[in-house]
Parts: sequence; C-alpha cells; structure tokens
Amino acid sequence: MKKLLVVVDMQNDFVTGCLGTKEAQEIVNDIKDYAESFDGDIAFTKDTHFDGYLDTQEGKKLPVVHCISGTEGWEIVPELVALTKTVNFNMDTQTKVNPDERAVMTFEKVTFGSVELGEFIKRYGYEEVYLCGVCTGICVISNAMLAKAFNPETTIRVLSKLCACVTPQSHVTALEAMKTCQIEVA
Ligand SMILES: [Zn+2]
Repeated sequence: MKKLLVVVDMQNDFVTGCLGTKEAQEIVNDIKDYAESFDGDIAFTKDTHFDGYLDTQEGKKLPVVHCISGTEGWEIVPELVALTKTVNFNMDTQTKVNPDERAVMTFEKVTFGSVELGEFIKRYGYEEVYLCGVCTGICVISNAMLAKAFNPETTIRVLSKLCACVTPQSHVTALEAMKTCQIEVA
C-alpha cells in the first residue's frame, strides 16, 4: 500500500505566532507521534508569502502579515522541524530520487492548496493519502480537495483529531464539507 501523510502548514505563525491558536498548539505533539510512526512517505506544506503580501487577494481579506519566506514565523514548529529533513526527494524536479524508497519532502505554496502536491500524489500513485495540520477549514480542506481532484481513485482521509482551525466551530464545519465530498474523516 503506497501511503502519504500530508502535514499541512504546521508553521510557527499558525501555532504560536500571529495566527496561532490554543487548538493548534494542542495537536503538535500528537502529529509528531503520528508522523514518527507513519509507514509511508511524508509531505510537509509551508504557507509561503513574500513582501507585498498585503496587496495580494489573500492579504486584502486577511490583513495579518504571516509566513513570510525566510522568517521565523514561516518555519515549521520546533517539535516537528527535525522530521522535515528532506529524504530521497529532489526539490528542483519535485520527484523522488528512488521511487521505491521512503521519502520526506516539503512543498512551499503561495496559496491555500498546493498544485504541486496534487501532481506529486498522482505521479506516484498513492493509494491512501492522510492529512493533518492547520487550518482545517482553509488549507487542510483545500489540499484534501485538490488531492481528490487529481486522484479520484485514491482514498483521501483527514485525521480530524490532528487538525485545528480558526475556531472549533469552523473545524467541525470543514469536516462536514469534506465528508460531503467523499473525503474520509477519521
Ligand atoms: Zn497565508
């Protein structure tokens, strides 16, 4: 079984920084435990913005400067950063070096979902994709939907206890929306 765990946007700004929440802080160690024992590839995503963020569409609707490339807020949280070390993955070509061996990689993305991640899942024919991280109702749902669009025959499963959202209510709302789109909620 080819399995991929996607850890969405577990960056300082979303956990302890300018957009951090108690709920996000509470899932960090559980994600660490899950990722450490996961028997498949692991993809981290990083929300990535640049100077001029406030002039982007996202910045106009969410005028909180966050995840600026190269800043501390952009980095993966300290508890998980050791797990993000790239293994068996060529960042330039976004391909696995040896397709048959375990890989760990990071996809930087300028918006909620990563097209590169969706394409990557398709290229390697993952049979099961698991998602966790933040925010359930923004970047987790976006990447789950993208994964499903690129891979209709792949089981997409969101690990609800390893996700957090802006509010507990928006977390529940997002899980319901994903269920409706045949994403498994575990
Ligand atoms: Zn953002």
